Amino acid sequence: MTWLVQARLINEPFGDPGLFVDFLFGRRALMFDLGDLAPLSPRELGRVSHVFVSHAHMDHFAGFDRLLRLCLHRPGPLHLAGPVGFADRVAAKLAAYTWNLMDAGSTDFVLVVDEFDGRIVRRCRFAAREAFARREAARPDLPAGCLLAEDQFVIEGTVLDHGTPCLGFALQERRQVNVRKDALGALALPVGPWLNAAKAAMRRGDPDATMFEVEPGRAVSLAMLAETALRVAPGQRIAYLVDLADTAENVARAVRLAEGAHRLFIEAAFAEADAAIAAARRHLTAGRAGEIARRAGARRVVPFHFSPRYLDRPELLVAEVEAAFGKGGADAVSAAGSPGCRGRGR
Ligand SMILES: [Zn+2]
Ligand SMILES: [Zn+2]
Repeated sequence: MTWLVQARLINEPFGDPGLFVDFLFGRRALMFDLGDLAPLSPRELGRVSHVFVSHAHMDHFAGFDRLLRLCLHRPGPLHLAGPVGFADRVAAKLAAYTWNLMDAGSTDFVLVVDEFDGRIVRRCRFAAREAFARREAARPDLPAGCLLAEDQFVIEGTVLDHGTPCLGFALQERRQVNVRKDALGALALPVGPWLNAAKAAMRRGDPDATMFEVEPGRAVSLAMLAETALRVAPGQRIAYLVDLADTAENVARAVRLAEGAHRLFIEAAFAEADAAIAAARRHLTAGRAGEIARRAGARRVVPFHFSPRYLDRPELLVAEVEAAFGKGGADAVSAAGSPGCRGRGR
């Protein structure tokens, strides 16, 4: 199975949290969170089209300046999304600089900033040609829980409580549809534009009775094609959960978002023995992170965002995630780059 994207943590588990989501085809990438971006090259950052920011604590947002600096002279939009109030944060960042040399002759670079509160509730645009003056813009028409919908994937979000609203994200690839050429031949189905339309309908999950005219006077149903000429495979799901207090509501939302994830990247900030500190800081313990992964039916879990108090014993956090996750043990838990767990990640 070739997935549409590959995701990797930007920093080691004690560094700033963030996920770089790289597309295998085409020069494009996405990011979840915007902390320390030092490990990413200008070339990698240059292909970022969308950044989804969980919340504006510094470790999740301090990388904004570097990304802006690199994208400033790139034509086209850079999309950012964050919780309610996020457009004010971006405006405040932009207000820190002098833009007197930006005018109508500047590169047509635009920041498009969405605020998400269960659905997108506000969109603002900041254009380089207007020295980044804020403009309210029409909100995209997306269903609840959706931050971005494209032909090949969607980005889903949920609002979590971290003492401040904090967003969790999931990338869901749409169903992959492949054509069985042998079946086309056996049924004497001619190749033509109808085939792309049928593949798109299958990806969207259109009704079985949907008909396609394969040649004049001959139509076939989507159900018939699904049984014969088209092979469908589920797309990859990648979930990203950071900075959530250990409350019943948060855990329920986190489990829903991570349901069936092929890979779940989840904070495991504190050990069970320090649960009181985790509660005061509104973070998860490693055990609760493992439990969320288990209840969500995640295939693999990648714990990260470790508190520096465990710098000399990161294996403790990984072991607690494993114990609560229960399934597959070390094979299914990877903490790439963590000194105690090197070699476990795949
Ligand atoms: Zn935070
Ligand atoms: Zn954090």
